[in-house]
Amino acid sequence: MTNAFFPTEKLLLGPGPSNVSPRVLAALGMPPIGHLDPDFIELMEKVKVLLRQVFGTQNEVTFPVSGTGSAGMEFTLVNWIEPNDKVLVAINGVFGTRLANLADRLGAQTTRLEFPWGDVIDKNQLAQKAEEIKPKIICVVNGETSTGVYQPMDGLAKIAHENGALLLADCVTSLGGMPVELDAWDVDLAYSGTQKCLSCPPGLSPVSVSPRALEVFHQRKNPVPSFYLDLGEILKYVGTGQKRAYHHTAPVNMIFGLHAALCEVMEEGILERIERHRQAAARLIEKVLSLGFEPVVESEKRLHPLTTLRLPQGVDEAALRSALLNKHQVEVGGGLGPFAGSVWRCGLMGVNATIRNADTLASCIPDVM
Ligand SMILES: *Cc1c(COP(=O)(O)O)cnc(C)c1O
Repeated sequence: MTNAFFPTEKLLLGPGPSNVSPRVLAALGMPPIGHLDPDFIELMEKVKVLLRQVFGTQNEVTFPVSGTGSAGMEFTLVNWIEPNDKVLVAINGVFGTRLANLADRLGAQTTRLEFPWGDVIDKNQLAQKAEEIKPKIICVVNGETSTGVYQPMDGLAKIAHENGALLLADCVTSLGGMPVELDAWDVDLAYSGTQKCLSCPPGLSPVSVSPRALEVFHQRKNPVPSFYLDLGEILKYVGTGQKRAYHHTAPVNMIFGLHAALCEVMEEGILERIERHRQAAARLIEKVLSLGFEPVVESEKRLHPLTTLRLPQGVDEAALRSALLNKHQVEVGGGLGPFAGSVWRCGLMGVNATIRNADTLASCIPDVM
């Protein structure tokens, strides 16, 4: 007993992880079964079907990569980038920067197209740059968790495909909380994470690969430089063929949890869930305005699961945040990059996206201010 760890339960209203429903927790605590057990294979098939539904896609290759959201990011780059491939990344926050840095590590010729933090990207500039450099992949972040901006996706696939590129979208903080319609948007590569709007602990990264992207993958000249994330190898396990071959052990209990979380999404309804996230964010902003906090992002550009708030002048944001955590067991996130020291990132994600949680946060702030 002396070594057991019992965390105090906290209200996780930062950029993730979010809290988890009792049903997901119970699923995580089920006795594990073998990852090649027919019962588990059947569950994996169910998870793939549910993921296609939440991603809004018929893409055959849709499954959870083992690892957190960054593993999905790495998966969508490492399988498609070969040395000297041209990659165009639209950057308006931390996660665009991370995508570009990863592309660099894989030997790509990376072009960074920078836009102001807190704003969406400019499609005309993106189109111009794509015509100029003819990249193999164009990367955008659909939900920028560092700034609280939701990137509209219409017109982006046209820019990519007219220039012979694949379109990649980071959907980590949009999936399950904002509209994600991979087929309608014609996105080729997408990844997400479990610990944000899906309300499952961190550990899996749902990904989806279009038939177009699959074709490009099969034309690779060089072996994939990662063993763990090699799509060709993973497909032998997660693909639909009859024979399943061992590649790496699937994180069995995490799949139990993700299945339960996805069932909750479908039972609620995706549109209802998106609306719930919108209402919770609107409530939070309404309540904190009178405390001197101001939303960073214009209303029609907001990522509802993650609200960025500028603090009143002269407030020590880090001290306030730790007082919230210590006194009220409420966690919010600090700002990153240009927003460090002046902005909070308040997540109302998944099961946490409620009017009640918005009110709880707003009512704790005056107490610690
Ligand atoms: C959280 C996040 C990631 C990274 O996910 P991890 O689970 O932390 O590895 C990537 N992109 C965005 C937009 C995120 O919010």
